[in-house]
Amino acid sequence: MRRPRIAIAELSHETNAFARTRVDLAFVEQCGIARGATVVTRARDTATVLAGFIDIANELAFTLVPLLAVWITPAGLVTRDAYETLLGELIDRLETAAPVDGVLLSLHGAMVTEHIQDADGELLRRIRATVGQSVPIVAVLDLHANISPLMVEQADLLIGYHTYPHVDQRARGRQAGLALARLLDRTIHPTPVLVKPAMLPTSQRMTTDRPPMRTLMQHAEEWERHPRVVDVTIAGGFPPADVPEAGLSVLVTTDDDPALAAKVAEELAALAWDLRHGFLGGVATWEEAAEAIRHIERGPLVLVDIADNPWTGGPGDSVELLRFLLKEQVRPAALALVRDPEVVDECFRAGIGATVEVELGGKTDDLHGPPLPVRGTIRLLSDGRYVNAGPMHAGVTVDLGRTVVLRVEGIDVLVTERAESPIDLNVFRSHGIEPTEQRVIGLKGKGHFRAAFEPIAERVVLVEGPGITGSDLRRLPFRFIRRPIWPLDVA
Ligand SMILES: [Zn+2]
Repeated sequence: MRRPRIAIAELSHETNAFARTRVDLAFVEQCGIARGATVVTRARDTATVLAGFIDIANELAFTLVPLLAVWITPAGLVTRDAYETLLGELIDRLETAAPVDGVLLSLHGAMVTEHIQDADGELLRRIRATVGQSVPIVAVLDLHANISPLMVEQADLLIGYHTYPHVDQRARGRQAGLALARLLDRTIHPTPVLVKPAMLPTSQRMTTDRPPMRTLMQHAEEWERHPRVVDVTIAGGFPPADVPEAGLSVLVTTDDDPALAAKVAEELAALAWDLRHGFLGGVATWEEAAEAIRHIERGPLVLVDIADNPWTGGPGDSVELLRFLLKEQVRPAALALVRDPEVVDECFRAGIGATVEVELGGKTDDLHGPPLPVRGTIRLLSDGRYVNAGPMHAGVTVDLGRTVVLRVEGIDVLVTERAESPIDLNVFRSHGIEPTEQRVIGLKGKGHFRAAFEPIAERVVLVEGPGITGSDLRRLPFRFIRRPIWPLDVA
């Protein structure tokens, strides 16, 4: 029997429409585009969706046709040029590879461009137009996807992550590969139903190890054991994409049983609505954080500013957390990270051991607080590259650009050229800092940091300085989300 030829690709971006940084081609290139065979060599043996596709291809003897893969760091709108160029190349490669028997895609589901609000839906539409109706397309989406009817219509099957922090990406990639095999055998006929309750939850309490998301996922997984249910996806959504489809989605796909899909989707959407208040709060005031610092026993206290989270589209250059730690005179402490290419440049010129006086951070916009004048000693200079230990994104190489460890009054601050969310202990260990030896670890994040940092933390406290990625959606000047929507308009 001929081995099925399966095209695989990744084009993933979570777009914060309020972020100033536009995603142009240079930005995408910096994130690292893999092409052809490199897609496979780079992704295999990592905790990623692509690795799951590769696993199943090996197990079921698919011939892989790797097209293109890039995971673009969350930021502002993708430029028309970047989107059309990348998608154009992906389609060209797909046409050159024709015929293929199936397509496996790793997408985010919250990508917005200058010219297209539902950029994932449009991507799926163009791939469908290229391969035709008879070639199955299965796509894996992020838990923060804003799932649209167009996405559902253009794919044979959409599968969302079950976890936040996203530690099941490889498992979902495997699930997608196995489902594609059943589609090729024509042993399933997917009938999806998408229900979107009018909910716009933020993500600081969307982690799946606690209610309300844990409760929802438990129900979803119970339904997935039903013989006619192919997949149940509950995506929490990504509010700052500011598109009509932003918000929570329940997508239930059954095997040729639309009535069952509708029943399960309506039931889970109603449950999500009933549990909505559990998505609120979870953020301490700065006074409460100061109180927590006074009560540290062994440490480390992990203190996280959620309002400048790079992976929610924050610029990464807020210094509010550092300002607070200096005021509280905490030491030893370590902070990841402050993006400030100018200061990095100055430190590389000054050299290790030098003392510099700089205006740190607060330069990208006027939404994340002013710069902070600091006097610090340069402890270390690096290329900012390290490999994640995991569990999330284990084996994935991170590139922070040139990076400086600047010690300011006993606090080791990672100053970087690029903004990425610090989700792995190796962000510190690769820079000669042992996280378990700190009294306080300062991070910028929302939920992903928990996978690696919660096990070593005495306690985790979330705070929010000024910024566009926090819990208070009233800070954001929404233009395109559907109204009325909870919690903005409805209690
Ligand atoms: Zn996500």
